[in-house]
Amino acid sequence: MSENEMGRKLFNSSIQRSGFIPKSHLESFEKMIKRFDKKAQKLELERINFSTTGNEEIREIQHFQLNEDRELIPAYKRKYKFIEVMVFGRVPVLDGWMAIGFIEHFSDSANMVTNLSKDYPLGKEWYNNVESKCDHCRHNRYRKKTFVLKNFETKEEMQVGSSCLNDFIPSMNTERLLNSFSWINTIEEIFSEDQWNHTNIHDTNFYHETENVIRHAVYQIKKYGFVSKQKAFDEGFISSAESVRNNMKNPDINEYVGQQPLKLSVNNLYTDLCQYKDYLEENAKNDFECNVLSMLKSELVAEKQIPYLVAGINSFRYWIENKDKQLEDKTKSDYLFEIGKKFENHQVEVLMMKGFETRFGWSTLCLFKDNDGNKISWFASKSTNFKVGENIIISGKCKDHSIYNDEKQTKVSHIKVV
Ligand SMILES: [Zn+2]
Repeated sequence: MSENEMGRKLFNSSIQRSGFIPKSHLESFEKMIKRFDKKAQKLELERINFSTTGNEEIREIQHFQLNEDRELIPAYKRKYKFIEVMVFGRVPVLDGWMAIGFIEHFSDSANMVTNLSKDYPLGKEWYNNVESKCDHCRHNRYRKKTFVLKNFETKEEMQVGSSCLNDFIPSMNTERLLNSFSWINTIEEIFSEDQWNHTNIHDTNFYHETENVIRHAVYQIKKYGFVSKQKAFDEGFISSAESVRNNMKNPDINEYVGQQPLKLSVNNLYTDLCQYKDYLEENAKNDFECNVLSMLKSELVAEKQIPYLVAGINSFRYWIENKDKQLEDKTKSDYLFEIGKKFENHQVEVLMMKGFETRFGWSTLCLFKDNDGNKISWFASKSTNFKVGENIIISGKCKDHSIYNDEKQTKVSHIKVV
């Protein structure tokens, strides 16, 4: 085993850098890391890779627009999802020496010191604006960058100019060393808090607060009715979703929506929505309702999800307007007859006819309502042909009493129409 390999084994010291990037930039971030890794492999350096940590945060970014004098003025703020990523590399160890940090020297301002390994933190003295000297050649001249090397046997630390690295450690290739660190600078720049602003964040990847989208949707739908994309296309209107999207840019949403006269009160919106969420939690019966539910539960909604959520709010409005009536209807229904006993000449209205294939052949579910609002259901085995809304008089047998959809229903059989 060469000393070089031994050094790597002995120290195997990892370089880790973690920070937040916009979620929408994850793909390009991965591509960049792959480029660094490819270069590292080419120079026979330690591999570089990364992973996400599972941490997310939301940041608000100020966007700008030009005013009449073509000056940039603050326009609106948008929220973006950021995720935490961690990049892993290794400290290069060569001939008993490893680079534990580097210092960038600026002629007119303070040094920038980069510590490479959390296992080998640089001593405080390195941060005290040290000169760009070289402990190897001892020539004092201006250098852009110097390296802090540590000997893993003697624990001795040295500051060496990049051009002297080859002399100091003959097997150390300056190009390799420089390249093994170039990614760290780039990564640190990407992670820095103020790096992300309106100029580099992609405007189509922003998120809205779900609550704000809902308030706008309620306003649009109450004022103009729900306009689907198809209806908008057919009749030359602007769709509800598009109106919401356009109005989301209004920076003062609360005031804007708050001033509108709404039947569906914005004040009650929160409690009503909570009820609707509970209702969907129990009763969501298709993709649409399940997706709407998960959007309502999420704090943010993506721009491209707006049409979906607006359609969901239309369903919500429909539900709000009908739930009292439905509740009333349901509480009205009571059980009829005695189970197992026959009944005769009961007048009912046909509410629903639903045919389907069973393993015993074709079957039709008939739902009736009598004059007192009591619901009666019948599985007809032969083909039946009532019209919905038709009034008929039936005789038959009471089979069972059951609850369906929170509603008392009397199940009947052997039905004859009188
Ligand atoms: Zn030197």
